[in-house]
Amino acid sequence: MVLRTARVGLRLTRGQRNRCFGLLRAAGDVWACILEINSWRRRRGEPPVAGYQQLCRLLTESGPGTFAELDTAGARSVLRRYSDAWFCAAARRKAGHTDVRFPRRRRALMPIRWYHGTFALDGRRLRLPTAAGCPPLWVRLDRLAPYPCETIRSVTLLFDAGRLWIDITAELPVATYPAGQQPDPDRIAGVDLGIIHPYAVSTLDGAGLLVSGRAIRAEHRMHLADTKNRRKAVAGRAPKPGQRGSRRWRKTRRRARLVEARHRRRIRQAQHEAATSVIDWAVKQRVGTLSVGDPRGVLGLPAGRRHNLRLRQWQIGRSLAILHDKAALAGIRVHLVDERGTSSTCPNCRTRITKPAGRTMRCRTCLFAGHRDLAAAFTIATRTPGGVITTPAGMPAGVVTHRRAGRHLPGAGRSRRDPRRPAAPGSVGRLRPAPPPSVGSRSSIPPGMDEDPQHTTGKPGER
Ligand SMILES: [Zn+2]
Repeated sequence: MVLRTARVGLRLTRGQRNRCFGLLRAAGDVWACILEINSWRRRRGEPPVAGYQQLCRLLTESGPGTFAELDTAGARSVLRRYSDAWFCAAARRKAGHTDVRFPRRRRALMPIRWYHGTFALDGRRLRLPTAAGCPPLWVRLDRLAPYPCETIRSVTLLFDAGRLWIDITAELPVATYPAGQQPDPDRIAGVDLGIIHPYAVSTLDGAGLLVSGRAIRAEHRMHLADTKNRRKAVAGRAPKPGQRGSRRWRKTRRRARLVEARHRRRIRQAQHEAATSVIDWAVKQRVGTLSVGDPRGVLGLPAGRRHNLRLRQWQIGRSLAILHDKAALAGIRVHLVDERGTSSTCPNCRTRITKPAGRTMRCRTCLFAGHRDLAAAFTIATRTPGGVITTPAGMPAGVVTHRRAGRHLPGAGRSRRDPRRPAAPGSVGRLRPAPPPSVGSRSSIPPGMDEDPQHTTGKPGER
């Protein structure tokens, strides 16, 4: 069993919204109370109250009605959060990290978690528990919970990026497969992480998957341009310093926060789509082990202003974590291997060649030519964490599948136009209606397999 959390938005009336904020504020009061009590105790030289049971006893002593509409279960979730944070900090301080601090900052709004049995979920309607004597609080989710009802373990009400959300956590069983179709741990695929192709995957028998991340990169680029334009536009109407009662800056900042949050959600969604296509493909290929080349060794090196930004936007740690999570749910093992030199080694005869500038790798020794990222993925597949390198005869030609991450992004899919840009003739939908049917010279794509053929050129210096 594994725990997975999905964030769902809320459709609220003004009254419901006010009550939700009331609950979050009451939870913030609970948090502030504990901080206050512990600061009194510290001044008196007494040990702090940090154990969950002790904190619950204090809550019981405070009696009903202390925290407005917040019920005991919700208030206890705040106590649990404090207790966990305190003991986590204590353990890390003990381990020698003296810069780690105990929780001490007050928050106006604190997330509240309710466990199974205290809330009721009926389709899109969710009943949040409230204190005894208060009317029940029903809220509407803006989509159905993505998990079966019986697997849901907890819901969390929180305020993030200018909106109220519900985090739904479910305990999901690891996927089971019919006999003979389960992933085989001995079937290994190498995964090469990159920017233009977030994931390039290749098995040892040459089957490959290329996930295109060009839509993600375009979203980053457009967002940067938009941010610059917005700043320029806002600078002219900035209120004078000290202008009384002006709400303009507050409005501007709020707007910027909302736009930033939307950008982050779009990127995150695309990253999840990319990882999902990898796992779907691996299950279809019955791959039971994914060897992922870990490039984090080279990320610390300075690479210049532009490339540094690109590397930061890459969010490699998150790509790895998402892939890891989805693989665990599908029953596929993931391990990290050293990826040094994989994009400059011929997968056929293993001679070192200069790193290709474009997407196509060519070897002068054995006349191999193929997609650079797939070749790197194949070389990664031959490596294991222990440093053992298996030596297959060479990279066989196989079927290469193409997928595109971020189909929902404006301008990436057929149906979506970028709402931030005026419609230009010919800019709607795909840019290239008839892309080349093959990648490199070694792939053959049967009809129906190539959902998303991509062009294979790239600029020098890009991963
Ligand atoms: Zn070669």
